[in-house]
Amino acid sequence: MKNGPTEGEKGIPRVSDERFAKEFGEVASLVEKHECMLILGHVDPDGDCIGSMLALAAYLMRRGKKVVCFTPGEMAEIYAELPLANLFVREAALAALAPDMVFALDAPTSARTADLVKRTDGKPVVNIDHHPTNERYGDINIIDEKASATSILVYRFLSSVAPESITPEMADYLYLGVLMDTGGFRFQNTNAEALAMAARFVELGARAHELAHEFIYVKKFSTLKLLSRALDSLEVHGGGKIAVMHISEEMITSAGGSMSDTEGFVDYAASIDDVELSALFRELASDEIRVSLRSRNDYNVAELAERYGGGGHRNAAGLTIHGDLATAKSQIVRSLEEMLALKVRPRQS
Ligand code: 5GP
Ligand code: MN
Repeated sequence: MKNGPTEGEKGIPRVSDERFAKEFGEVASLVEKHECMLILGHVDPDGDCIGSMLALAAYLMRRGKKVVCFTPGEMAEIYAELPLANLFVREAALAALAPDMVFALDAPTSARTADLVKRTDGKPVVNIDHHPTNERYGDINIIDEKASATSILVYRFLSSVAPESITPEMADYLYLGVLMDTGGFRFQNTNAEALAMAARFVELGARAHELAHEFIYVKKFSTLKLLSRALDSLEVHGGGKIAVMHISEEMITSAGGSMSDTEGFVDYAASIDDVELSALFRELASDEIRVSLRSRNDYNVAELAERYGGGGHRNAAGLTIHGDLATAKSQIVRSLEEMLALKVRPRQS
């Protein structure tokens, strides 16, 4: 069976590794031939990106490799406390490093890695990702848009080349990827594979309850104060089918908290009962607005994001607009209204 569930050990269904068997073998032999590995993630990394990077990093270190991790932008404080977070280096330290092999995880485009995947002096680049918009910039590309998280692809690699090497700590990182990219097993990508993988990771030692508690349930006081300001900004358009909210620099100054601690805020806009399309606008600088888009059903926000130079998945995508908050908002609301008008009815299946 190609990508469907097969019977794994202990009767838990798991996905066949057949499809990438060749690529996995090639990656394993590259790893054996190289010593110093750079693992790149995408700008402002989320839980899947970080979990995938650290699971792979732990494996490579067990193989005796020197490993460093880098993502452009800011990392949320909650992730900075993970046991292997010390592997993340600052940009200044990157120049001093001479990696002889590069991995890029959860990063669909070169731009999402601040173009670092293009500045590798001919060193082999392995691109592992689950975004349909992936540019296949690697020498080896392991891309499966059906995977709910990049960490599932990292697991498929590990279970294919070294199944006995997966430690409980690695299982935690793999689980974190699925947990965060499915929004705590709520989003439309919560499929049989995601649930089977989560079960597999728990079997391997992942602490399901503790991770959900630390990364989804617990919030800082300042983050909740900021959320209350963001919720205050909620507006609906398109006859109640579009919801938008924003976080301005001024809100951060007055409520406290930090832009990097706002992962998941957009879900509040998306959760409104009749809303099919939603957006969160974050003012990073006076002329740089990050937009997070979410949709239900067949509405494809990745296509919309791509039109603005961004990308993502059908139901979750993002982009950056250079301009002020009000202009960015009215531009995107107009585009979302056009999407609504174009689609008579999303397919009901
Ligand atoms: P978020 O809104 O949570 O930042 O991102 C939602 C999804 O879209 C994630 O899978 C993220 O990797 C992807 N994404 C967000 N912004 C961009 C972007 O500017 N370019 C691309 N290619 N993907 C993005
Ligand atoms: Mn991801």
